[in-house]
Amino acid sequence: MKVAKFGGSSVADAIQFKKVKNIVESDSKRSVVVVSAAGKSQKEPVKVTDMLIKLEKALKAGTDFQLLFGHISARVLKIRDDLNLDVNIEQDLDDIYQNLNHCSHDYLVSRGEFLTGKLMAAYLGYHFVDAKDVMIFDGDQFDYAKSSEKVKSAYQRYSRILVPGFYGANLDGSIHLMPRGGSDISGSILAKLLDAELYENWTDVSGILMADPRIVNHSKKIDILTYDELQELSYMGIGVFQEEAVRPVREKSIPTKILNTNHPEEGGTLVVDAKDKQLNDQIITGIAGKKNYTVITIKKYQLNKHIEVLQKVLAVLQKFRIAINYVPSGNDSFSFLFQQSDISNKLESIVLKLKQTCGLDDVEVNKDIALVAAVSLQLSKRPAIAGKILDYLDNSLINVRLVIQEGSDIKVVFGVANEDYEKTISKIYREAMFRDYKKIPA
Ligand code: ASP
Repeated sequence: MKVAKFGGSSVADAIQFKKVKNIVESDSKRSVVVVSAAGKSQKEPVKVTDMLIKLEKALKAGTDFQLLFGHISARVLKIRDDLNLDVNIEQDLDDIYQNLNHCSHDYLVSRGEFLTGKLMAAYLGYHFVDAKDVMIFDGDQFDYAKSSEKVKSAYQRYSRILVPGFYGANLDGSIHLMPRGGSDISGSILAKLLDAELYENWTDVSGILMADPRIVNHSKKIDILTYDELQELSYMGIGVFQEEAVRPVREKSIPTKILNTNHPEEGGTLVVDAKDKQLNDQIITGIAGKKNYTVITIKKYQLNKHIEVLQKVLAVLQKFRIAINYVPSGNDSFSFLFQQSDISNKLESIVLKLKQTCGLDDVEVNKDIALVAAVSLQLSKRPAIAGKILDYLDNSLINVRLVIQEGSDIKVVFGVANEDYEKTISKIYREAMFRDYKKIPA
């Protein structure tokens, strides 16, 4: 069997619903369908989830929430009516309306998936299984043991089921919301629980591109990549697949396909175990990056022998509660990378505190740094590739401020000035496309 998850743009209106039906009906193995909330379309510029978040704000502020609720209802009713569905969705809308004043954030924001799921289940003729009855969380953790039983029994009983994504329930039955983009996680968990032969993630792009198409014209599509490669690219913000959705399918080596609901014929990107991916001639699988990092470098002679200094530094950083993204190190220095938005209003105080309390020789700050990651399974087998890319960037007059290769051996990260970000990505892309990897030593 296959689990097929359809993202927000794939279920945005009646036209998209029809495409989903065609896809589901063209393969009888697609017996479990997961949907996001209706997303953006040409006519609808706002996702239902964002409308619900806005509705919650209006409720809290005591401003006119009726209008927003009316807009959400109209979207749902239009899909129902355009498809001539015999579903009493007014009843569900009315229940939600009655709950507005005392419901939780998780309940309200998950209603987009709930309503879209109800409509899609009716349209496909699949049994609607409310995610709150089968996807169980114990605190922050997904409870596989409890959920497994429930999911399997619903599947055995109805054989064709639709489960709304993005939420489940806590042990006390209240709604538990997942992070944004969480329907990917729901689908991945269901594929794991039901031992699917394939997890299909239907979106509005034909798979994952090697590089951001806004930077590289006609970027090549990645036909096949490993879970690790996908996770690294997702972490660097490629945005096609929720980062946390990789783990469940990977744990059971369930192949995952990222496909385009608008162009199923284009084939998409397949994600597999490393053992199932043949190395090809291409040296880099994908390139991704983010701008706006700040680097704080602390310096002290023979720092690597002064653990107590590092402890003091970490204590300072912990006090300011900011997430550290990378920590490249040398003998006499350590650099900490932060997202600029996390640190900007605390930077001066942090630097002052580090200087005053940690006994350092120097503290250096570099702002407006972009990170560009080249990801490839081949990097672990041919470390010389990273050096080649570095030479190439150097020859292209890009000043690489830092190179990070520790942590994951399938990724090398280059830190460059923000203004060199696009150029760096284009150059690495060219290098990856046109260099013959067989000539690079193992
Ligand atoms: N609807 C939710 C969001 O917009 C979850 C999802 O689409 O997966 O984040």
